[in-house]
Amino acid sequence: MDEIGVTRHKKVKPGVKRSTVARAVFATNVLLALVLIALVLIPESILQVDKEALKYMFLIGIGAMALCAVWLFRLQKVMLISPNEPVAESIIAPSEQEDDSDEQLGQLEYSDGLTGLGNRKRLVERFEKMVCAMENSADDESDKETEFAVGILNLDGMKAINEMFGRIGGDAILRQCALRLANAVDGEGLVTRFGGDEFAFIFADITSESDAEEKGRILLEILQAPFDFEGRQVRISGSFGFGIVPQVGKCFEAVYENLANALYHSKRIGRGRVTVFSSDIEEQILENAKIEQALRCAIVNTKVKPHFQPIISLQDGSLLGFEALARWNDPELGFVSPGKFIPLAEERGIIAPLTETLLRQAAAAATAWPDELFLSFNLSSMQIVDPTTAGTILSIIQQVGLDPKRLEIEVTETAIMSDPQTAAKVIEDLQQAGVSISMDDFGTGQSSLGRLRELKLDKVKIDRTFIMELGEDDAAVHIVRAILEMCAGLGLKVVAEGIEKLPQAEMLKRFGCHAAQGYLFGRAQNEHRTIAYIREYMGDEALEQAKRACG
Ligand code: C2E
Ligand code: MG
Ligand code: MG
Repeated sequence: MDEIGVTRHKKVKPGVKRSTVARAVFATNVLLALVLIALVLIPESILQVDKEALKYMFLIGIGAMALCAVWLFRLQKVMLISPNEPVAESIIAPSEQEDDSDEQLGQLEYSDGLTGLGNRKRLVERFEKMVCAMENSADDESDKETEFAVGILNLDGMKAINEMFGRIGGDAILRQCALRLANAVDGEGLVTRFGGDEFAFIFADITSESDAEEKGRILLEILQAPFDFEGRQVRISGSFGFGIVPQVGKCFEAVYENLANALYHSKRIGRGRVTVFSSDIEEQILENAKIEQALRCAIVNTKVKPHFQPIISLQDGSLLGFEALARWNDPELGFVSPGKFIPLAEERGIIAPLTETLLRQAAAAATAWPDELFLSFNLSSMQIVDPTTAGTILSIIQQVGLDPKRLEIEVTETAIMSDPQTAAKVIEDLQQAGVSISMDDFGTGQSSLGRLRELKLDKVKIDRTFIMELGEDDAAVHIVRAILEMCAGLGLKVVAEGIEKLPQAEMLKRFGCHAAQGYLFGRAQNEHRTIAYIREYMGDEALEQAKRACG
């Protein structure tokens, strides 16, 4: 275990960093010794005091101060690591090859400046040594014993913390995290910081997927208790990607990629999770890599198309507008659901170009509709918290020639909650330009009612899970009525999603719901079929007018 262990005290060589207190004690000691020497040298006749008694007193003083210095020095290493101080000296072991003169340099090279934990270099070096040891014992029967676990942890919510407490607060909380993790790992493994809000671990004794999962869960629990900064408390969670070497790979770069994929998987299934790399996960990773490559091409070649689902007034049955829903039929992969490729595009950093091509196509299609019809467009969760979003949307619709008053942007509660301040700014900028904002899938996310009031939304879309149950479940009826009443009080319009049966539509109309969307009124259709739908619904005259208006 020593080979990889976080040997908190044994490997620390004294003299690396002394606290001010220990230095003061040391200085007092030197002073006392000088006085003692003076006592021995100065003749008794000059002093006119009991020189022998004084000598003993100073000797006892020097002894006491020496003990005190040793005790303080040890105590400082064991206990006096405040959450705001680097924890390096309690954790970092200098590299075995370093001689004493290179010690401090070695410490810096292998340590993370902010937290004092080991850094990436330290983990990689340790990893490579352990893989070497494993390969050397490959012929040995006890091969299994040289397997080990590696893991990466990414904190969820650090962006919001940095915004709330500023950079200094964010750094202090990162140090507290580091301290907790170091204490939790204590001698059983290596914990390092890879930069930002990412930490990495090696556990020599963990050789099974279940033990790795258990270890990840314990570490996440340790992070669950609130963190404190200047009397304010904050909670954070994290997501883990773990793997057992050699199953997860032997070359660090490949291992890191697999761990990052396992970590993505944790985030995708709901944060605060642990995913251990396995053959199943590997298969999913390969499939996602294939989808990602195909999606990148599809975006460039405008092969992802918006289809349009009608939204109908429940008060007078008129057609109000359409929601654009992304559709992608790949020649090799076949139909890929937006529920799959939108989150993947977010994860792989290609959501911005995807949104851009979809909005451009959808807005262009909407310019051919009668003026009174609106276009409702889904904004991905990442973009509602990106300050550049409003500018991008407005410039696209301006280029295409769609009046901002005809555009509605659908956002979700959960997306807004990840960074409410930026989301509020994006929403405000869009509204000022005349764009309306709808809260999509209402009732399924994690929002507060207060947020509804603060955000000054225009519309709420009740999620179809409630609508499906109408007529079959009393609770759903109460929830839908309560939402409608609350929205009426707040002056918000309401669209009910996922209406498939006539009685559902009739019930919602009776309750005062404004508009409806669902298979009962029509599925999402391509641009041309949508024109045919409009013609059927509104007659040729309306479309002719739109054509004339477009010039
Ligand atoms: P959403 O925005 O809540 O869209 C409504 C979903 O419900 C659509 O699924 C639609 O086809 C489906 N739906 C509509 N009426 C009915 C009904 O009567 N019964 C049933 N069972 N389903 C109905 P779809 O198209 O698979 O989209 C799923 C989600 O993917 C959307 O949920 C939206 O969150 C996301 N999405 C779709 N297109 C885009 C897009 O262009 N951009 C972004 N960012 N997200 C999109
Ligand atoms: Mg939607
Ligand atoms: Mg929805």
